[in-house]
Amino acid sequence: MRKAGRVVAEIHEATRAAIRPGITTGELNEIAADVLANRGARSNFLHYQGFPAVICTSPNDMIVHGIPGSYVLSEGDVISVDCGAIVEGYHGDAAYTVGVGEISDLARRLIEVTERALWAGVDQLVAGNRLHEVGRAAQRVAEGAGFSVVREYVGHAIGTAMHESPQVPNYWPGTPGPMLKTGMVFAIEPMVNAGSFDTYVLEDGWSVMTADGQLSAHFEHTVAVTEDGPEVLTVL
Ligand code: MG
Ligand code: MG
Repeated sequence: MRKAGRVVAEIHEATRAAIRPGITTGELNEIAADVLANRGARSNFLHYQGFPAVICTSPNDMIVHGIPGSYVLSEGDVISVDCGAIVEGYHGDAAYTVGVGEISDLARRLIEVTERALWAGVDQLVAGNRLHEVGRAAQRVAEGAGFSVVREYVGHAIGTAMHESPQVPNYWPGTPGPMLKTGMVFAIEPMVNAGSFDTYVLEDGWSVMTADGQLSAHFEHTVAVTEDGPEVLTVL
């Protein structure tokens, strides 16, 4: 899983470096596909329930699951990139959000808070702790900043499949959840909205939007519970 995670991190680095006004989300997808090919990795996104690309690109009020294509990034956009890789049968999955050129103070704060919510959740992945503390911690950060946490889409266990049980809510669901044990691996992925947490899906069947048209951000890492605490696998 470390190997798969490194490929995902490499895709992040390559796409991040290419993001600028004028590039299309389709071009970002090609950059990601090149990294997968160069590393001999397979995509866990392509053909997933019919998904047509190796990354998801979700600008502005799109929360997650956007299909890369002809959308041209422009100054002031907020773009989320989510991708994964399979190496030797094991999966990695991670996402980041970044501003394109100069962005608003609100956008910058939303991105910063969402990343902080991710790390607050990751810090809870300690053996003996309960899984739903992840969401409690992420929610506290997001709501503490005046933002909201998406309810309908959540994180997940990950291993020889991308989406394994149990799910990982990014909010406190009212129960403590399973006990964490060394060797468990989870994709922690808060989606934080500037406005309300309500969502809807576009007619393409994929693109998840904020119901109120306000901005959304998304950060994700694949993280293992180890004897020494949480180990982030989707890093170089
Ligand atoms: Mg993901
Ligand atoms: Mg995921």
